[in-house]
Amino acid sequence: MTPDHSLSGPKNLILKAALRLLPAALLALTVSALDAPKVHAAELAKDLFGHTPLPAALPAKSYGFYSKGCFSGGIAIANDGPTWQAMRPSRNRRWGHPAMIKLVEKLSRDAVADGWPGLMLGDISQPRGGPMLSGHASHQIGLDADIWFTPMPDRRLSPAEREKIGAVSMIKSKELTVNEKVWTPAHARLLRRAASYPEVERILVHPGIKKKLCDTVTGDRGWLQKVRPFWGHDSHFHIRIGCQPGSTECKKQAATTKGDGCDKSLAWWFTEEPWRPSKDPDAPKARDVMTMAALPKACRAVIDAPSPVSEAAVTYRGNGTMIAIAPEMQPQTAGLPETASAFLPDFDVPVPLPQRRPEH
Ligand SMILES: [Zn+2]
Repeated sequence: MTPDHSLSGPKNLILKAALRLLPAALLALTVSALDAPKVHAAELAKDLFGHTPLPAALPAKSYGFYSKGCFSGGIAIANDGPTWQAMRPSRNRRWGHPAMIKLVEKLSRDAVADGWPGLMLGDISQPRGGPMLSGHASHQIGLDADIWFTPMPDRRLSPAEREKIGAVSMIKSKELTVNEKVWTPAHARLLRRAASYPEVERILVHPGIKKKLCDTVTGDRGWLQKVRPFWGHDSHFHIRIGCQPGSTECKKQAATTKGDGCDKSLAWWFTEEPWRPSKDPDAPKARDVMTMAALPKACRAVIDAPSPVSEAAVTYRGNGTMIAIAPEMQPQTAGLPETASAFLPDFDVPVPLPQRRPEH
């Protein structure tokens, strides 16, 4: 299970969620008899977002923050591509903002050109983002992707294998340092390649991996600034890209601290403090109690928006091919001009804001 990915710390998140929930719950109680639509606001967001099989056929936009938001206009990366295989297909988490999906595909191609055998893809987002039924705190706005440190095998894995096979940890069992039997310079090269893209703001890795890079990277070390130590992430790394143009309601994450990060902030991870067991291990996780009311308002419209006609119509297969959509396969975006579709080949066209739903 991947732990909390936001940098505010799991306890803080839970506290904040609890504080937000309180007024929402009271509001829902007081208005429920008079105003039925507001009752929806108290619905658990993970139940809605975790059970919606296709994206919102609206322009591509992220709403809110990585650990509290949603997105529209998502596309999927295919389960199979020439330079990748997606793992855990049953979770249906191959979705992301088109910029994220394009970046993952590009990384897979560049990595292979660098000598890496191909990418094993972990979770990206649910079709419309939002909190998940299990796992991640972040990955909610289509701008986070997990990539396994395990190199892609030279054969296609069966669907059953993709559910079962586990990623290999790069960290020695019960220790905080890299296992030299599995870590290779090619792993460092893969991280450097991922960090090289301007849209990538952060790459989360286990502190032991960050330390290994600090100890071994020579020449240009500027890219190390993006590589941040975090819990989990010993068998996969996590790529986070910034808010994309047009997503005016996407909340930016604070910039990373200048420098390579091979300093006191890293040394902290090698103290006892970050690994202390939680004082309240049974406290609910933020994603498990997050209501629709806690998410940006636009997330209600994202959940209510129509789906594209099929998954295939919004699946990116890579190799330089863009999604070509036959007229009958156009997403059902009634009322929106054609250029507003996030599924058209040019994702960078300026698009109008989605229509606000009338207030009740
Ligand atoms: Zn992740």
